[in-house]
Amino acid sequence: MSARDITVLGAGIVGVAVASWLQRDGHRVTLVDRGPPGEFTSIGNAGILSPGSVVPVGMPGVLKKVPRWLTDPAAPLSLKWSYLPQAAPWLWRFMRASRRDRVERIADALRPLLGQTFDAYRVLTQAAGCTDLINQSGYMAVYETEASFRADALAWTLRRERGVRVEEIDAARIRELDPDLAPIYVRGVLLPEQGYVANPLWLTQRLFGHFMASGGRYERREVTGFDIGAGGPTALRTAQGPLPVDTLVLAAGVFSAKLAAMLGTRVPLESQRGYHVHFPEPGISPRTPVMSGEYKFFTTPMADGLRNAGTVEIAGLDAPPTQARIDALVGHTRRMYPRVNMAGMRTWMGHRPCTPDSLPVIGRSPRFANTWFAFGHGHTGLCGGAPTGRLIAELIAGRAPNIDPAPYRPTRF
Ligand SMILES: Cc1cc2nc3c(=O)[nH]c(=O)nc-3n(C[C@H](O)[C@H](O)[C@H](O)COP(=O)(O)OP(=O)(O)OC[C@H]3O[C@@H](n4cnc5c(N)ncnc54)[C@H](O)[C@@H]3O)c2cc1C
Repeated sequence: MSARDITVLGAGIVGVAVASWLQRDGHRVTLVDRGPPGEFTSIGNAGILSPGSVVPVGMPGVLKKVPRWLTDPAAPLSLKWSYLPQAAPWLWRFMRASRRDRVERIADALRPLLGQTFDAYRVLTQAAGCTDLINQSGYMAVYETEASFRADALAWTLRRERGVRVEEIDAARIRELDPDLAPIYVRGVLLPEQGYVANPLWLTQRLFGHFMASGGRYERREVTGFDIGAGGPTALRTAQGPLPVDTLVLAAGVFSAKLAAMLGTRVPLESQRGYHVHFPEPGISPRTPVMSGEYKFFTTPMADGLRNAGTVEIAGLDAPPTQARIDALVGHTRRMYPRVNMAGMRTWMGHRPCTPDSLPVIGRSPRFANTWFAFGHGHTGLCGGAPTGRLIAELIAGRAPNIDPAPYRPTRF
């Protein structure tokens, strides 16, 4: 295989992982980003590394929930009225992807990619000397009522049927595993094979640091368009002048749809806005992340404090953060961990890059042979970063891919 000059546009966790795997293959790689690596969406996630995350966001019965999304700004999923017309085409596809047969196929497609989360990161973190950032501690999901536990039955079945270890636990075991939790949980599920990163920004930064130390290049520029020749893009347009490209990988998170459209390919991508509240000195130390079954957020014991992250809001890229959602997360945290010290709390909102079928877009551009797509990882971009990098490197090298890339093809929409 001959070494190429490859430009990766976007230095979130996906772009940095892609650049790292390409560099391992001997390519000369340039990362381009308008901001510092890892500081957009990849900075604020819940940090969960979950090879068993095979459950799409759109599940059967989703249509019945829409009225609540529209009327309750603090619901686990909410939809802003004024944004509805813009989101409608994407929502229509999302509804169609929520049928039972599609959900089964989506879960089948997520498992091989995310199943290698720990393996794929291990290769990169060993090289970068930061294996300590990865914890394979397991995580726990907890429910306040039998009814909400039963309502999630399909989600647990989808995981079990794909070989994910799922252990049901009772209230006493929950208390034993995490004595700081409020005594309000009657049902739990333990997933011993999952884990989390000590801090998602540090992971991106450490991988980026190793990439640079190994001869990588980084251009801090905003890309506003492309010069396109007969064979595909020849340069990135930036305010500082054109940046020539030979082979391009588009990994620009939620902005990838706009950039892909400039390259002649339309991909439905919507921001599912999520929030976190972070407590630097929580005064409690849970052993594992805990997911609230009712409210669908994760509380993760990070190296620099306790982070409560999650929820979905469909309101576009431009609307300011919704205070009611932040207040709700704070309230949920207090309900879950009544003793948590909230002094110094930080809040954040970010944009998950979401396709309607919860599958990422990984593969060659249908228009140009020199252009590759690696975006749209939605709720599992941290888990999917390193496995995506490995797959892109295999595809660019023309090696037999270790998994079937067909479900992620950009032409599927
Ligand atoms: C609240 C919340 C919790 C989450 N929890 C988890 C979790 O526990 N586990 C998990 O796996 N995932 C989680 N996610 C999802 C995960 O964070 C994302 O899927 C992931 O960060 C996406 O990474 P990315 O590299 O594709 O995009 P980004 O991190 O958004 O990076 C894209 C980069 O492209 C750059 N860029 C875009 N356009 C241009 C341009 N024109 N010119 C130059 N640069 C450009 C941006 O500056 C940015 O740095 C969560 C997300 C949220 C919001």
